[in-house]
Amino acid sequence: MEGVSAASAEDSESLLCIINTCTVTQKAEQKARRLIRLILKKCPCAALIVTGCYAQLAGKEIEAIDKRICVIGGQIKSRLSLIPDMLIKSKTEKWNPADFSDSVKTMVASKPAAKPGFPEESFKLSTSAFVSHSRASLKIQDGCNCNCSYCAIHIARGHSVSLDVQSAIERVQELEAKGHDEVVLTTVNIGQYKGAYKDGFCDFPEMLQLLLLNTKHIKFRISSLYPEIVTEKFCRVISDERVQPHFHISVQSGSNKILSLMNRQYKAVDVENACRMLRKAKSNPFIACDIITGFPGEKDEDFNQTMELCRACDFAWVHAFPYSERPGTAAAVMKEKVPQYVSGERAKEITDWAIAQKIKYVEAFKGQEMTAVLETARRPAAISANANSRVIYHAVTDNFIHCEIISNGKASENHAVSLKIKDVLYERIKKGGDIEASAEFL
Ligand code: SF4
Repeated sequence: MEGVSAASAEDSESLLCIINTCTVTQKAEQKARRLIRLILKKCPCAALIVTGCYAQLAGKEIEAIDKRICVIGGQIKSRLSLIPDMLIKSKTEKWNPADFSDSVKTMVASKPAAKPGFPEESFKLSTSAFVSHSRASLKIQDGCNCNCSYCAIHIARGHSVSLDVQSAIERVQELEAKGHDEVVLTTVNIGQYKGAYKDGFCDFPEMLQLLLLNTKHIKFRISSLYPEIVTEKFCRVISDERVQPHFHISVQSGSNKILSLMNRQYKAVDVENACRMLRKAKSNPFIACDIITGFPGEKDEDFNQTMELCRACDFAWVHAFPYSERPGTAAAVMKEKVPQYVSGERAKEITDWAIAQKIKYVEAFKGQEMTAVLETARRPAAISANANSRVIYHAVTDNFIHCEIISNGKASENHAVSLKIKDVLYERIKKGGDIEASAEFL
């Protein structure tokens, strides 16, 4: 069921809905609860399976919303693979969503977690078929052994686990054989990748090197980085032209005092060094970062240091968000809370700066020929009856510029194309839209 909203018609045909939830902020949890209630209303015959990080931490609370809901916590999400068989065995002609939910609850309770505190069979649900996500992705690491004071993710996900190197190679080879031109390697904490290989283990740079050696043309995008992972060894591997010049660094603050309160393992200067090294390894890469504003104890001078760091690193984009208190974390009981309006104003100040930065970055590529992967193609509804109607393509360049191309071409999604950036779409960037430039096929 795509795009369900308050205005959607009732759907009494759907028998099962699976909702993946996030716990990163209070907002994310509120959003999940709203979606659960909306689906309960719009799909009166459906059982709802709720999974993911929020479900892991608040399973009882979520199941109490309605008897049609059952929870498969994020750490045992791989048990979703048992659901198709359970559905086949259940008598759909006498379908009772509450009974089906009960049977899922029994399945969850009947088998204790294989290794409590670790994600169970974390890589089992990997697929090489991407239906609504046009870009291929491969999860190679899950969980986290760090203990950042604001973070509920490591509590929800459990300890770090890694996909073994041979499986990673085979999965990427399969994606390449299916014609994918790019794969995003996803992790919770890339620095904790430790994949079994032969008689030992590989860290992330060693694994990426092996992926490059064992594939021919597929390109690799790294989902997110921590400053500590940017070493000489890492930079040697990413200098390969098949590693995309796009990096997102988890920075969070430019104040060493706040970084220490957050229990982060680096200092502001390490972030600067990481950016310098990435720029040496790749030509004009898109480097973005995450910043949390209003962490307990953050004074104006700490925030100013964050702004200074962002300027010094010349980030092309900053994802700034106000601190959100997560129950059960060390930061939740810290004193010196920062009022929400102050956190909000600081996040806005960074975002305004980041918009100008993104415009500057995209402008630098105006008129340039670039390669990109086509993400989606759609025909504008108003002219869909016209056989010669134009197609609106959404393409993402190697360095992560999101382009719109309006063309009669018959390019197919998920494939590499050459394009030329025509114009910067200033207003769309300012509004936080998902398209930043117009382009034409070459
Ligand atoms: S590194 Fe810190 S913020 Fe990231 S998942 Fe681990 S504990 Fe959470």
